[in-house]
Amino acid sequence: AIDARHLVKRYAEQTVLRDVSLRVREASVVSIIGSSGSGKSTLLRCMNLLETPDRGELTIADEAIRFTHDAAGNNVGLERRQIQRLRAQVAMVFQQFNLWPHLTVLGNVIEAPLRVRGLRRRAALELGEHFLERVGLADKRDAYPGYLSGGQQQRVAIARALAMQPRVLLFDEPTSALDPELVSEVLAVIGGLADEGRTMLLVTHEMSFAREVSDEVVFLHQGVVEERGSPREVFENAASERCRQFVSSVA
Ligand code: ATP
Ligand code: MG
Repeated sequence: AIDARHLVKRYAEQTVLRDVSLRVREASVVSIIGSSGSGKSTLLRCMNLLETPDRGELTIADEAIRFTHDAAGNNVGLERRQIQRLRAQVAMVFQQFNLWPHLTVLGNVIEAPLRVRGLRRRAALELGEHFLERVGLADKRDAYPGYLSGGQQQRVAIARALAMQPRVLLFDEPTSALDPELVSEVLAVIGGLADEGRTMLLVTHEMSFAREVSDEVVFLHQGVVEERGSPREVFENAASERCRQFVSSVA
């Protein structure tokens, strides 16, 4: 589960997240929607500490961190070990797949289990093959990423995230870089993970998918959660005028 409370994130003079609280229950899916620049990626990046919030608290699985800063705006009191433990609970899939071009598909998937988690080669290979199978790419294990379609590359990136055996999965617009005909194969894999009961936080512009897969949808506007609720509430019955406008503009 994820429990983020009162997160604040600033870049210089700009406050990008203003007191954002968000909860993703175990085995549930929350989608974040909102216009460009509203802070969606920043919020996601705070969940694995690619960005460090200035203020607030974050609990992921059993790991809780509290953020504070000094007068100069620098974070204080964060322990490296704690940060590493929190990161180990989370895996993220990006819009750009970021595969290592010089490693095979299987090499990409086992890299972090070998180097970060310290698994033995044999165990990492088993795990890698298992998750490649899971995303339907067992037959591509020895190919290099450059020879795969964008949809296949993104499925490898998902297998790589799964191979970290994280407690939560984060997706930042996982289909936005794909040609339209390749979107559905990636959404099918993500939908399957949701059905499996994975805990997931997803930023997406695919509104019909968000509606189908999410237990809760959060509409972010200028760093504030302006609307939240079931897909039906947010997509059909939003209290916020801005949210209604956004939804109708992307539908
Ligand atoms: P998009 O839909 O375009 O991906 P987003 O909702 O993901 O947008 P963010 O990328 O979180 O938005 O950006 C929110 C705001 O924070 C923007 O105004 C952006 O310019 C600013 N911002 C993001 N990252 C940084 C950074 N590293 N340094 C300074 N400003 C940043
Ligand atoms: Mg973004």
